[in-house]
Amino acid sequence: MNITKRFPDLFVPPHILSIEPYVPGKPIEELEREYGIPGSVKLASNENPLGPSPMAMKAMESAIGKVHRYPDGGAFELTRILSEHLGVPPEMIVFGNGSDELIGLLCHTLLMPGSEVVLPQPSFLIYDIMTRSMGARPVNVPLKSLSIDLDAALGAVTDDTRMVFINNPNNPTGTIIRKEAFEKFLAKLPPRVMVVVDEAYIEFVRDKACAVGTDYLDGPNPLAVLRTFSKAYGLAGLRIGYGIMPREIRDLINRIRMPFNASVLAQVAAGAAIKDTDFLEKTKRVIWDGLSYLFDAVGSLGLTCFPTQSNFFLIDMKQNAGEVFEKMLRRGVIVRSMASYGFPEYIRVNVGLPEENERFVEALEGILK
Ligand code: PMP
Repeated sequence: MNITKRFPDLFVPPHILSIEPYVPGKPIEELEREYGIPGSVKLASNENPLGPSPMAMKAMESAIGKVHRYPDGGAFELTRILSEHLGVPPEMIVFGNGSDELIGLLCHTLLMPGSEVVLPQPSFLIYDIMTRSMGARPVNVPLKSLSIDLDAALGAVTDDTRMVFINNPNNPTGTIIRKEAFEKFLAKLPPRVMVVVDEAYIEFVRDKACAVGTDYLDGPNPLAVLRTFSKAYGLAGLRIGYGIMPREIRDLINRIRMPFNASVLAQVAAGAAIKDTDFLEKTKRVIWDGLSYLFDAVGSLGLTCFPTQSNFFLIDMKQNAGEVFEKMLRRGVIVRSMASYGFPEYIRVNVGLPEENERFVEALEGILK
């Protein structure tokens, strides 16, 4: 560790040293800078290929003259819009600087050294990082056939378990939890365990049997549903997500939430985006059409794509995923190697625009030759 060489007398808590820094998808600008490839394509961060919601852009344009003021820390107007849209009381809604921030806030509110957190593996890496940041212990539960294994998650619960993360659909596998399975799980889970249902990709789900976290807010377990404007609404760069949870949990979070964590522009954009139903429908069409094109095209190259309920999917490359990632980069296409997620031969790809999908398939064909 460099830190101990540079500052030998500095005490760094061991749980901080145990954290592997999160490696985000490579930005297009970085690829272009490093490899000198113009017109590159990024299919690595599950972003919306259509761009931002047009209604959100318009709302931001008209609010731009207000950014000399701090935002409304309680996000009154946005909370009202969402409350109406979702049919839940405003007291149950809280916003974050991306849903990332809410994952951190829940961990910081409810965990301490000695706490255990049940984490299906692989899943979104931030759960592990935020758990460790509190000196709490991640208890990993392997997926079963790429799906979250709820029985195994129950089996991992001990007296010290404080929280369980359920990512539905699960990143990076795209699998979902069905209502029946989720209800059985909740019925057996001790009521002291906080359930975090991360629904960052819920808008893309087509399976009607998929559990939706908001149906379970009145149960004995404290349960928080996390959603985001980064994916289906095209606002990843703006950083805004929200949580729906019992008001008592929201009040706890509000004790430590930074008062201005959702910016002026993020608040107005989110309020407009949630009403932009045309954009959401267009987005879903692009994703679903793109998935059927990509599954056919990749399948005809002799590779296996795993079924997904999201805007991304896994491909078994049957070769080193890190090398595939590098070779695709050299062809101007950014994908995600799943090596750090425990799948050394899988890559994760998200659906792009039709021309981006074609470029991906061409590049893939090129590296298989
Ligand atoms: N949850 C999951 C499962 C994700 O994949 C992501 C983004 N990659 C997030 C949460 C965070 O999204 P954001 O902070 O942009 O709302």
